[in-house]
Amino acid sequence: MRTEIKPHRVVIASGNRGKLAEFADLLAQWDCEAVPQAAFNIEPVEETGDSFVENALLKANAASHHSGLPAIADDSGLIVDALDGAPGIYSARYAGEDASDTDNNRKLLAALADVPEAERSARFHCALVFLRHWQDPNPVICQADWEGRILFEPSGAGGFGYDPLFFVPAENASAAQLDAATKNRISHRSQAMARLLAALARELG
Ligand code: IMP
Repeated sequence: MRTEIKPHRVVIASGNRGKLAEFADLLAQWDCEAVPQAAFNIEPVEETGDSFVENALLKANAASHHSGLPAIADDSGLIVDALDGAPGIYSARYAGEDASDTDNNRKLLAALADVPEAERSARFHCALVFLRHWQDPNPVICQADWEGRILFEPSGAGGFGYDPLFFVPAENASAAQLDAATKNRISHRSQAMARLLAALARELG
């Protein structure tokens, strides 16, 4: 099924309230409504891809297929050089299927116990995908990295996930020490979002 070139509604393939609100704000400038996939009773798909892009495509494809609307999906995680890229696409479940952020952070610190500061380079990565319809052969794909290094112990109380262990040299602080506005200005997600917005302006504007 083809949807119109300039959609008035886009389904967001996420259940995360923060992400949904962000996308709703951004799409409003084009009089385009961001509809959560839960509005169509769409369950989260299994993330069986081998890359962030593949997983974002899987999520967007399922959401678009079931809703009949264009879809936006994202996938993100932490890439640690000394661990050959781990936890990568497994970031949310690094320490097991039901792992908490604390469990994942503990496992990361243990894995890096013998790694000196100079070799603790890491980055958050975000892949964002826009599908005009579920069989779109030319998805809009935007990606971005946020560079840092892994600390030896948690620091800061803000953010989520690996933020307390992620030191941002440009801010001389961990991601968990940054206020939300600062993080949202420089993070992998906001950089990828800016790229997606520029691309969507050509489609929706
Ligand atoms: P998802 O893209 O929402 O599935 O996120 C995957 C996982 O990557 C999260 O559960 C976190 O563990 C990690 N992650 C992604 N973005 C961030 C971030 O901005 N700060 C800390 N951890 C993150």
